[in-house]
Amino acid sequence: MNWTSSKILAWSAERLMKAGVGSPRLEAEILLAHAIQARRQDIYLEPDRPITRMELGEHQSLLRRRMCREPISHILGRREFWSLEFLINSAVLAPRPETEVLVEKFLETCRRDSPARARILDIGTGSGNIAVAVARELPDCRVTAADVSPSALAVAEKNSKTHGVYDRIRFLQSDLFESLDPGERFDYILSNPPYIASEDLKVLMPDVKDYEPRLALDGGKDGLELYKRLVPEAARRLENGGSLVLEIGMDQALDVGCLIERDGNYDEPRVFQDYAGRDRVVLARKKNHG
Ligand code: GLN
Repeated sequence: MNWTSSKILAWSAERLMKAGVGSPRLEAEILLAHAIQARRQDIYLEPDRPITRMELGEHQSLLRRRMCREPISHILGRREFWSLEFLINSAVLAPRPETEVLVEKFLETCRRDSPARARILDIGTGSGNIAVAVARELPDCRVTAADVSPSALAVAEKNSKTHGVYDRIRFLQSDLFESLDPGERFDYILSNPPYIASEDLKVLMPDVKDYEPRLALDGGKDGLELYKRLVPEAARRLENGGSLVLEIGMDQALDVGCLIERDGNYDEPRVFQDYAGRDRVVLARKKNHG
């Protein structure tokens, strides 16, 4: 049989659908485009393009991986965030679109406060998506990107080079604030910490639980462990009037809000929703006095 783009596409979409993949047609297109080194739209412009044996072999190996539910961003080695392409591997969480809400809300706040040369700390930087997006948006700011995992930091460094902000980000191997100088303070602390309760990890989609780093997902017994450490430690590291901006799980706004209130060092926290209308970001300003 002579394979053409359109035939392979139909056949692949069917296989992906049977394997339980969410958007089989779209993903078949993405994989085929990758295998034949073309753009997705080229597949439609040239539906009868013959596919060589080698391309077919390459496509089938990608397809096989996706049918085993390896995430598509791992297979391609990249994922888009903030309209930038990020290198991804098994050491990091693939950036999620909802994390863009954190970046957006932070930028709104920072632009309103307009501190001179803002000092920003990104805790648990992973692929560096938040740190890189922020460094690109605010040419004057100084960013520290911390992660406990050296292999995640290596990915973040590469991404910062690709996007031209390597010399404006300091990379730090650190368990939360541990490796920072004792006296160091920031205007903003951002974090998308692991927030899934250990018990719930088992029921996640295979794409996530079998392939993404547990370290980036596991929020301990109740999913709140990292917030319990972050909220009080961040209060000690923020300048008065500085802000803590956290991504949260959709059912954690009350619990995280409560941790912030109880801490006593912050003004009343604000909660923002993602594009699906779920609570996703909490922003708390450190009190200006006291
Ligand atoms: N900062 C990265 C992100 O927002 C990684 C987060 C994590 O590993 N929990 O996607």
